[in-house]
Amino acid sequence: MNAVSPTTLATTQVTSLIDGQVLPASGHRLPVYYPATGKQIAELVEADAAEVDLAVQAARRAFDDGAWARMSVERRQEMLLAIHARILDHAEELARLECLNLGVSMRELRERQIKRAAYNFRFFAEYIGQTKGDVYDQSAGYRSIVVREPVGVAALIAPWNAPTALASMKVAAAIAFGNTCVLKPSEQTPLALRRFVELLHEAGLPPGVVNIVNGRGPVTGEALVKHPGVDLISFTGGTETGRHIMATAAQRLKPCTLELGGKSANIVFASADLDRALDAALVSIYSNNGQQCLAGSRILLERSIADDFIARFVARARQIRIGDPMLDTTELGPLASASHRDRVLSYAEIARGEGAEVLTGGVAAPMEGDLAGGYFVEPTAVLAPTNSARVCQDEIFGPFAAFLTFDSYEEAMRMANDTTFGLVSYLWSDHLPTVEAATRDLKSGVVWVNTTMTRELRAPFGGYKDSGVGREGGEASEQFYTEIKTVTIPT
Ligand code: NAD
Repeated sequence: MNAVSPTTLATTQVTSLIDGQVLPASGHRLPVYYPATGKQIAELVEADAAEVDLAVQAARRAFDDGAWARMSVERRQEMLLAIHARILDHAEELARLECLNLGVSMRELRERQIKRAAYNFRFFAEYIGQTKGDVYDQSAGYRSIVVREPVGVAALIAPWNAPTALASMKVAAAIAFGNTCVLKPSEQTPLALRRFVELLHEAGLPPGVVNIVNGRGPVTGEALVKHPGVDLISFTGGTETGRHIMATAAQRLKPCTLELGGKSANIVFASADLDRALDAALVSIYSNNGQQCLAGSRILLERSIADDFIARFVARARQIRIGDPMLDTTELGPLASASHRDRVLSYAEIARGEGAEVLTGGVAAPMEGDLAGGYFVEPTAVLAPTNSARVCQDEIFGPFAAFLTFDSYEEAMRMANDTTFGLVSYLWSDHLPTVEAATRDLKSGVVWVNTTMTRELRAPFGGYKDSGVGREGGEASEQFYTEIKTVTIPT
């Protein structure tokens, strides 16, 4: 099969966009690849510390002049809704750029992720119209009024696995509450987000409110996080990077939220609707090409149902259509980079070395034509010997499921919680007491019961333990992106 030829890119050189202006391409260059073919499709022009400084200064000016921070809620809502409409109008274009850069299927990007990116702006437009304040009347004849104000300049750092869906959540929340920001996408996936920031300006966003700089983490990201003009940091990415960013932020006592990795348990009891649990188990590990923080990567099965469940899972995994992500028929595209493919595949050997059985996959998927150079991996499933095996502890971040079996509720909970991570848990059972007990006992920021990956934006999202610090969504976003001030006056 041949790859659908990549679109002619409007921007083959991905530069910074600061204060509404495209910067000339002057920095260090990095190649940007199409993971389905392994061919270079664009060039990233890296922002150095001086360019990051320009971006922070532009955001600072746009914040300090007050036009955005003190804009009426109604006008800011109009702006956010205009952005929502603009993104939807350009959904196909954004999905195509993301697909070219990431290799996730066009169908998934068009129907889910780009729609979500647009919706994030509508959600916060509606949210800011409904915020409430507190008033306390004191008996001594004073009244205290609690007001929330924007914090200032936000540094927003995004990962490569769902660039536009994740970064748009940060941008929408930051600007909805009156902040200005500098966005730094992953150096692997700058294309769609660069166009996204252009679209914000085309929708009428004033210059300087959202700026974008591109480049590697230790260069551009580090300069941004260390910049004295940055007031708060929102980071999504790996746990080790998160640790480093929090240590840097601590030097200047800057608040940060960290949305980090996961190794989530998908627990299936014999009392579950097993057909639904099976469908969901496949989606939660193989969608987005398996590259998801919230992947249900450890599938814990009650022993009485395990053999049958695994046999059906493996049969379905082998039927997954691997191919050109531009085609709507494709279910599993390539992994995001050659090095990531090699890392994911190395876990098949690690699994064998630990005594696990590789049930299916564990090898590169053989492709033809242009796709032969792509980073395709077969959907993989292993039966792990114990929960302490590396395939059950390390975040593999690919289409790689590890099965474990349990004999009792207590054993299931022990295994589910025996991880350094705590992002989400999936729970499948129709037995109410089991559900009630497990939702109490599971140590994760989200527990999905008999459903998978349904995200309510009013509810907080984030992880326990090494999966993060802080939460995003609704009131949690309001608390992070605003300062709180108590004004006391005589009555
Ligand atoms: P990463 O930590 O390598 O990079 C994330 C971002 O941080 C990139 O933009 C990178 O350039 C930047 N960065 C790296 N070093 C930096 C530094 N020293 N200073 C400032 N910025 C720096 O992560 P990744 O490989 O891009 O993303 C995959 C990880 O993200 C996985 O662990 C995944 O679980 C996690 N993730 C978490 C969530 C969540 O909501 N919890 C969502 C998606 C992805």
